[in-house]
Amino acid sequence: MNFEILLATSNKHKLEEFRRILAPHGITLYGMSDLNLEALDVEENGDTYFKNAQIKLEALRKITTFPILADDSGLELDAFPHLLGLHTSRYAKQFSNQKEANESIIKLYENNPSTKRDAIFKCALCFSLDDNDIRYFDGEMPGFIANKAIYEHGFGYDPIFIAKENNRCVASLKNEEKDEISHRGKACKKLLVYLKIKGLIK
Ligand code: IMP
Repeated sequence: MNFEILLATSNKHKLEEFRRILAPHGITLYGMSDLNLEALDVEENGDTYFKNAQIKLEALRKITTFPILADDSGLELDAFPHLLGLHTSRYAKQFSNQKEANESIIKLYENNPSTKRDAIFKCALCFSLDDNDIRYFDGEMPGFIANKAIYEHGFGYDPIFIAKENNRCVASLKNEEKDEISHRGKACKKLLVYLKIKGLIK
């Protein structure tokens, strides 16, 4: 049994993670370019992650009847609530690369030594089969901002994030270790339950 889904993202890291989480369940995930679709040009101006995921899904729904999975994610810093969150990917774009963005966050805490380092990754998923019956799933990974980055695996802010669940930097985790505890992994678990109940996967 093979179930095909189009992922509404052009972020190759997220596509790779979703693929490795969903493939063992008989799901083939396509990126936009796999189906010769142009990268989505929508304004992610929602006031929640779900809203932004829904904006992407609805834009794609206009051009395809394929089952669609759309996501939105972000990192929230307890002590600096307006810095990242819904603007997480935009924040990094002010810098010449992600490493610089990561170092800027490390510096921020260095300059504010008494600040609590609690943070959380959030992921919102929207899924629809071939219509506008949209289902919503979410996942969170609580943790802390590290005082030194580790560049081994992962992407984005993984190098500066220590997961509360195992007290390890996410960039030091093997793929399957990250997927077990990540915001994306947890949201996908909920999606998988739904797809099983619908009889779309085993
Ligand atoms: P968006 O979901 O495409 O809006 O992007 C959110 C941004 O959050 C990404 O560009 C990454 O920088 C960051 N992000 C989301 N998930 C992860 C993750 O699992 N690890 C590290 N960074 C992440």
